Amino acid sequence: ASLPLKLGETFTPLAVGGSGVFDLPLVFAGYGITAPKQEYDDYEPLGKRVASKAVLVLRQEPQKDNPHSVFNGNQATQHAALVRKIANASEHEAGAVVFCNDASATEPDALMDFRRAGGGENGRSMPVLQVSRSVVTDVIKQATGSSVAALEAEIDRTLEPQSQLLDGWRLRGEVTIQRQQTDAENIVGVIPGIGFAGGETGGRDVVVLGAHYDHLGYGDSNSLAPGTRAIHHGADDNASGTATLLEVARQLQAEGPFPRTIVFIAFAGEERGLLGSGYYAANPLLPLERTAAMVNLDMVGRLVDDKVIVHGTGTGTGFDKLVDTFTSQAGLGVAKEPGGFGPSDHSSFYARKIPVLHLFTGSHTDYHRPTDTADKVNYAGMARISLLVANVVRELATAIEPPAYLEVASKPFMGGGGDRPYFGSIPDFAKPGGGYAITGVSKKSPAAEAGLEGGDVIVRLGESAIAGLEDFDSALRKHKAGETVSVVVLRNGKEVTLQVTLGDPR
Ligand SMILES: [Zn+2]
Repeated sequence: ASLPLKLGETFTPLAVGGSGVFDLPLVFAGYGITAPKQEYDDYEPLGKRVASKAVLVLRQEPQKDNPHSVFNGNQATQHAALVRKIANASEHEAGAVVFCNDASATEPDALMDFRRAGGGENGRSMPVLQVSRSVVTDVIKQATGSSVAALEAEIDRTLEPQSQLLDGWRLRGEVTIQRQQTDAENIVGVIPGIGFAGGETGGRDVVVLGAHYDHLGYGDSNSLAPGTRAIHHGADDNASGTATLLEVARQLQAEGPFPRTIVFIAFAGEERGLLGSGYYAANPLLPLERTAAMVNLDMVGRLVDDKVIVHGTGTGTGFDKLVDTFTSQAGLGVAKEPGGFGPSDHSSFYARKIPVLHLFTGSHTDYHRPTDTADKVNYAGMARISLLVANVVRELATAIEPPAYLEVASKPFMGGGGDRPYFGSIPDFAKPGGGYAITGVSKKSPAAEAGLEGGDVIVRLGESAIAGLEDFDSALRKHKAGETVSVVVLRNGKEVTLQVTLGDPR
C-alpha cells in the first residue's frame, strides 16, 4: 500500500532540515530519546539499523502527565526539545526525521510552523518533516497491527522502548528548501589614535566598543513568543546598546583623539549566532593582535536599583579595579562575572584571546518578546551608563599598559550546561554543517590535553556521528565526567582520532 501525502495538510517539511530526494526504509523510534540518566533509549532496540533510514519520532516525552515521571514529572526535560531529537537521530546516522504529534497534542493532526525547530542556520543536510498523526496511525496499523496510541501507551506504562522497523514502508519524496541569503553590514566608526610618547604598549593600540543593532524582526525561532507574528521591537535588546554606542562615540569624538585608536562597531546578525562580530573577528579592520580590549553593550536599557552587571572582569589584568573604580564613581552598584564567554558579541573576541567587558542591566519578562518596547526603557539610567562606558573606554584608550589576556574557566557557552561533562572546545559559528568546527580549545581543558586544535572539525564522539554543534552537545550529555571517549576530527582533510578524558561539568 502507499499513502500519498499532501503539503500543508498531511505533511510539512521543517526549515531546520536539508533538501533532497529520498526513498528510505521507515523506522518507528518512539520518542526519539536517548537518556542515559533516565536509563531510557528509544534507539536501543534498533542499534545500527537506523543508519540511512527515515526515523518516525513522537513529539514530547514519555509519561508527560505523570508527576512522578523520571522525565522530570510533568515538566518537560531537555529531551523533549525538537532540536535534541533531531541531533539524536543525526548521531545515529538517520537519513531523515519524521515527527508525529504525541497523544497529548490538543489538535493531533496540526502541523508545526515551518520554522518551529529553527531556520536551518546549522546547515543540516538531513531532511526533517512532520507527518499528520492520522497518516502515521494508518502506517503503523498496517505495518505492525498495533496503533501508534497503543505503542505510546505501552512506553508510558513500562518505560520500555517500542521501537521497530516498519516492514514494507518507505518514506519517498523530495524536499526543496530555498534559503534566502541576505547581506547585512557591520557599521564601523573610528577615532584614529595619536600614539604614546615613548610609551610601551606592546603594539596593542586599538580599543573596540561594540553593540549589536539587529533584533528578531517579526519574530523567528529565537522569539520567546512563538507562533506570534508581531514586531519584536528590541528596545532593550539592543536599541539600548546601539544608542549608548552612538552617545559614547559622540562624547569621545568631541574630546579625542586619544593615544589608542577607538573602533566603534554596530554589529549585524547577533541574534542569528554572533554573525557580525564573528565576521569582524575573522576579518578585522585593524589586526586583532593590536586590539587591547573589547567592550560590548547588549541590553543596557533597564537599569534597576542602580545596579549594572559586568561580564568579563576576570578576562584582563586590571579589569576588576577598572570596573570597581568607574562604577563607584558613577554611583552604580555592580555585579561582576569574571567569564568572557556568553551569548553576545564579546564571545567572538574572547575566543580570540582578547580581554573583554560586557555591560548588561539584567534580563526581564519582555526579553525576546514583542513587548520589549521603548516605553519600558530607563533613559536616565542609560545616560549614566553612557558616562560609565565613556570613562572605561577612555581609560583603556589612554592607559599606557594594556590589559593582558587572562583565561577564565567559564560556564559552558550553550545554555543549560547542567550535567554536561566538560570538554573545552570553542565553537566556530562561521562554519555550520558537515561536523562541528572549532576555533580553538580552552587552556588545560580535556580537549586541549587530548590534542584538539583550532581548525579541527569534530565528526564523531564515541558512538555518535556529529553533524554540528547541536549533535556534539547532545552526544556529550550521553557521557560522564572521567570517561575517556574517542573523538574523530577532520584536520587538513584527514581523519584523526583522539582520546579525550571528559572533565567535571562546570
Ligand atoms: Zn542582544
